[in-house]
Amino acid sequence: MADFDAIVVGGGLVGTAVAYGLARRGRKAVVLDEGDIAHRASRGNFGLVWVQSKGFGVPEYQRWTRRSSEDWGAFSAQLQKETGIASGHERPGGVTLCLTEEELDKRRRMMAQLHLEAGETNFEYEILDHAQTKKLIPAIGPQVVGASYTRYDGAANPLYTLRALHAALLQHGGRYVPNARVEHINAAPNQFSITINGTTYAAPRLVLGAGLGNKALGEKVGLNVPVRPVRGQIIVTERVAPVLPMPTLMIRQTVEGTIMIGESREDAGWIDTTTPEIVHTLAERAVKTFPFLRDVRIVRTWAALRVMAPDGLPIYEQSRDFPGAFVCTCHSGVTLAAAHALHYAQYVIDGALPPELARFSTRRFDVQAAA
Ligand SMILES: Cc1cc2nc3c(=O)[nH]c(=O)nc-3n(C[C@H](O)[C@H](O)[C@H](O)COP(=O)(O)OP(=O)(O)OC[C@H]3O[C@@H](n4cnc5c(N)ncnc54)[C@H](O)[C@@H]3O)c2cc1C
Repeated sequence: MADFDAIVVGGGLVGTAVAYGLARRGRKAVVLDEGDIAHRASRGNFGLVWVQSKGFGVPEYQRWTRRSSEDWGAFSAQLQKETGIASGHERPGGVTLCLTEEELDKRRRMMAQLHLEAGETNFEYEILDHAQTKKLIPAIGPQVVGASYTRYDGAANPLYTLRALHAALLQHGGRYVPNARVEHINAAPNQFSITINGTTYAAPRLVLGAGLGNKALGEKVGLNVPVRPVRGQIIVTERVAPVLPMPTLMIRQTVEGTIMIGESREDAGWIDTTTPEIVHTLAERAVKTFPFLRDVRIVRTWAALRVMAPDGLPIYEQSRDFPGAFVCTCHSGVTLAAAHALHYAQYVIDGALPPELARFSTRRFDVQAAA
């Protein structure tokens, strides 16, 4: 029997961020993680810490995302101080590049709406024409009509971030248990136990941070978590000299010099392999956007599965049947890593989610089901 303050199921970016947040507040946290055979979005994503385009029609999501993006610098610095691992975080602002007037018009309307919905929290943005965009990113091709820009956007290396979170968790006395697929949960209000390989882990708090695994796990503690896989494919090139001073929604240069080209959104069930058609489409748009890419070699392509709620929003909830059991899941786990570590962990300790997260409750699915 091993007693903890909290059991976190899932050792990806979401679970580990919450577990780290708990551990740095002096709580004894254990992460139970399925392992290498699991789907792991945290190891196959694009690495944006992205604000623009988040929260259209849902200002709570925009605010939460912006808060995380604003916290990311301190979060990343803290992780580096504690572990020596740099997450590669940068926040130079970011652009969404448009290749047609229609795309730019759509973008203009979307940004105006986001600005309107932000109210007093003021969402600042700029719509740029070709010349203004070229000033920011000289490498764009003639087909780029314009762009939207915000200063809130940035990127990080998701693999280093995950590594740093794991290392920091251990440093704060947390425990990580690999090859620990959770299938059964003994649940009572504020009393949970899970037995893995002969050891029983017990705690008054349980956090489900298991990505696509949350759907099945949620059912065991009265939480409706209807997440589904959405495939994304990514291309990565050889390293080139610095050429992209800021990330764009679909193409960014890493600190190491590679260019990442992403990323599709496909309903492909649980199939997480790449397809030539999608890779071709991504590459074609990339070359139209940045003609220099025609001469840059691709070194790898991969696909991974996003963790997607029906409305694309995060799901944050505490079980009504089993208080003390929380779910934390989202499709932007890089962007929200700071919010999960710095804020969500505190809510778990407090035993209550704040009103500003009410929009992300599972209650919204009850309403949909009744409609
Ligand atoms: C192609 C692509 C591009 C993306 N780009 C971005 C981006 O630019 N910016 C951004 O913010 N986000 C991006 N994302 C999303 C981001 O990767 C995810 O939101 C994030 O990784 C989710 O982390 P997670 O920990 O919830 O899930 P995962 O990384 O999937 O981790 C879940 C963990 O739970 C474990 N698990 C599952 N079931 C069980 C069980 N029963 N018992 C024990 N353990 C279990 C698994 O082993 C796994 O380690 C992208 C995703 C994809 C696929």
